[in-house]
Amino acid sequence: MNNDLNTAEYFIKGILAGDISILSRAITLVESTKEEHQDLAGKVIDGVINHTGKSFRLGITGVPGVGKSTFIESFGIELVNNCHRLAVLAIDPSSQKSKGSILGDKTRMEKLSAHPRAYIRPSPSSGTLGGVTRNTFETILLCEAAGFDFIIVETVGVGQSEIAVSQMTDFFLLLMLAGAGDELQGIKRGIMEMADALLITKADGNNLQKAKNAKTEYAHALHLFPPSDSGWIPKTDICSSINNEGIKETLSIIEEYKRLATTNGYFKKKREQQLSNWLHQSISDMLMEKFYNHPSIKTELDKIEKGIGDKKINPYRIAADLISMWKN
Ligand code: GDP
Repeated sequence: MNNDLNTAEYFIKGILAGDISILSRAITLVESTKEEHQDLAGKVIDGVINHTGKSFRLGITGVPGVGKSTFIESFGIELVNNCHRLAVLAIDPSSQKSKGSILGDKTRMEKLSAHPRAYIRPSPSSGTLGGVTRNTFETILLCEAAGFDFIIVETVGVGQSEIAVSQMTDFFLLLMLAGAGDELQGIKRGIMEMADALLITKADGNNLQKAKNAKTEYAHALHLFPPSDSGWIPKTDICSSINNEGIKETLSIIEEYKRLATTNGYFKKKREQQLSNWLHQSISDMLMEKFYNHPSIKTELDKIEKGIGDKKINPYRIAADLISMWKN
């Protein structure tokens, strides 16, 4: 490959000019586990960092089949019609185990993916959750630098990834089915507590009344949660993505939140908090990686684990010894 096409300057210039193919290549660099790619990705992010942070970051979660892609298709079209430039990024923790991907195996968001103001990036299909979420955070930054002013981060609501998504977005939208019961949907109370809005999907046909009832029930449930620091009271609504109903209303809810959080300073505070979280997360990731990849630690740990057998061991003591061995 031509070396000029692989310099940080080339990527930085291309991204800032809004060149989508260069942006895509930069995201591939970010996702790569090769050290030289990560070095280059780091330089590219350094070079664009002053041009990041200006988008609205929306996290969307819900169980498989709740209607995430259909919703994002309708909602995304509404956004691009309102002159937004939209990037849709996906975190798919399921793909680590199955290698097949819940989010990636269908033709998703056909109209949106063909729209010139939209960019859809499927998630990487391997890696740890920590790695995938870090990639997503860096991908958000690259997309912002490329001029996208609205970023949707989508995740399947079946694992830990919702927490990571809520920590890297400004507004967390939870999609729910009517009448399926919380447990059936695998939605834990903790996830509901993180939501800034709860949207009951497929509110059409025979399902409309059920959706309306669910809205009332969830609105009551949300009222029982402690108020959030943002001063925002989470909203509940219904939508039918296939009929394009409740889509504009959802955007209005998000805009209302944005106005409130900007006026009362919460938006800025949350972004600062997020950066601080990522800083600590990065420190702990790096320490872990350095520790576990250290040759003598690897050998020693291997020896200890193989020798455990029926022995009673004191894991705390061993950990302390290994760490002092690593530090020296
Ligand atoms: P995802 O797995 O959460 O991304 O869900 P999909 O968007 O793929 O939707 C799952 C199924 O629900 C598909 O068969 C959709 O056609 C259907 N669906 C999605 N939204 C609606 C809706 O608003 N109304 C109805 N009736 N069906 C919907």
